[in-house]
Amino acid sequence: MSALKDMPPAEPVASRASRIVIVGAGFAGLEAAKELGKAGLAVVLLDRQNHHLFQPLLYQVATAALSATDVAEPIRKILRRYESVQVLLGEVTSIDMAGRVLHLADGSSVSFDYLILATGATHSYFGHPEWGRIAPGLKTLADARKIRAQSLLAFERAERTIDPEEQARHMTIAIVGGGPTGVELAGSLAELSRYTLARDFRSARPEAARIMLIEAGPRILAAFSEKISDYAKRRLEKLGVEVFVGTRVEKIEKRSITFDGRTVPVGLVLWAAGVAASPLAAQLGAETDRTGRVLVDEAMRAKGLDKVFVMGDAAHFVGVDGKPLPGLAQVAKQQGRHLGRSLARHFRDGAPLEPFIYRGRGNTAIVGRHAAVFEQGRTKLTGWIAWLFWAVIHVYLLVGFQHRLMVSLQWLWRYITFERGARLVTDDSIESRPPEAAAAREAAPTIERADQP
Ligand SMILES: Cc1cc2nc3c(=O)[nH]c(=O)nc-3n(C[C@H](O)[C@H](O)[C@H](O)COP(=O)(O)OP(=O)(O)OC[C@H]3O[C@@H](n4cnc5c(N)ncnc54)[C@H](O)[C@@H]3O)c2cc1C
Repeated sequence: MSALKDMPPAEPVASRASRIVIVGAGFAGLEAAKELGKAGLAVVLLDRQNHHLFQPLLYQVATAALSATDVAEPIRKILRRYESVQVLLGEVTSIDMAGRVLHLADGSSVSFDYLILATGATHSYFGHPEWGRIAPGLKTLADARKIRAQSLLAFERAERTIDPEEQARHMTIAIVGGGPTGVELAGSLAELSRYTLARDFRSARPEAARIMLIEAGPRILAAFSEKISDYAKRRLEKLGVEVFVGTRVEKIEKRSITFDGRTVPVGLVLWAAGVAASPLAAQLGAETDRTGRVLVDEAMRAKGLDKVFVMGDAAHFVGVDGKPLPGLAQVAKQQGRHLGRSLARHFRDGAPLEPFIYRGRGNTAIVGRHAAVFEQGRTKLTGWIAWLFWAVIHVYLLVGFQHRLMVSLQWLWRYITFERGARLVTDDSIESRPPEAAAAREAAPTIERADQP
């Protein structure tokens, strides 16, 4: 957001108050903007980032398999052909529902008649916000870059020490949360250390890195069937990942993690355990569930509010089975498309808004080197075939032909060579100078000892 400080205020647009304003150009917001744009309706789309992010492949950026540019695309470019859609870069910090005005971080404001909130979700540290400073979660490109830098630096530090205990600590990575993100991070980090880094170090042995996946529930991938969970656990264990289930994390400190009453020295802890709705959702003043999602009706209207809609991860939408829909890209995409079309019809001929019905296309996750799980109803696939399914779906869903081609080529190259092309640690991938300086300080004393015979 710092880049936005010097920008002129967004007020000129605010005066055209009859417009529909969408906040968030994620999967949901983008689809709604496209549909409204197709109908020629004037729309303002606000996002704090200038890019749309394909979060399902973010873990590959975090583990040096893909570059940031492979999974993100400028919002303006995606919406270039929809002339009635105006994209504004800005972070909404508060919502004045009485005045129907959005207040932005740079002090400007944008007013609205119709508001569509699609600001997604954020990390939740279950009442331990202090863990957030030690254990990064994965949600944005900045998060992915930070995790990539911290993972690679952990091995660099290990290489620079000859103290076996310190070496082992640096190469111990704990991942908290056994959902798809935790499973994908664990598998990919194990693969990175066992296959890619193993050949490049002289003192440290990255292949001996300890990767721990810690899940509080009775099994990993709880959204899948038991059979699939068991397969995923076995597959990760084959890659050398230690999987702990029914295990609650009690404490996270800079150099250690405590669970089940024992404290394990660690080089890095990653957080993939909890999510909560974007804090902006609470600003509406509407009723929310315990994770902060706004309760919406069958047409995605925020309950009790006029002309205000909430979609995607920020919404609590009850599906046909009576349960809230999960936080998935396909849910957000379908909701965005549906609401955009439904509103376009409503504006064109006054048709009432249509109820949304979610059509699940199956659930999938990667569990290590070219193995995945896929489940839809009674169809359950594992291994290679599921990986192919996963790869085709993800490449298809990526925005833009160029990304599809580049990502496919990189996967093919990685499969043949075990190489990872995005293993760079750059200044901008480390949040600020102090941690880098600390890393250098931490490693420095051991240089002298490494010179000894
Ligand atoms: C690591 C990871 C892996 C995932 N893997 C999968 C998967 O394999 N399959 C799957 O189906 N789903 C997956 N998901 C979930 C999926 O990405 C989300 O369900 C989906 O992105 C939700 O879409 P959305 O439009 O609600 O929000 P998002 O896509 O998160 O978009 C929200 C947008 O709002 C913007 N925004 C937020 N706050 C503000 C503000 N105050 N002002 C302005 N703009 C704001 C953000 O910049 C962002 O562009 C994954 C998620 C993560 C984090």
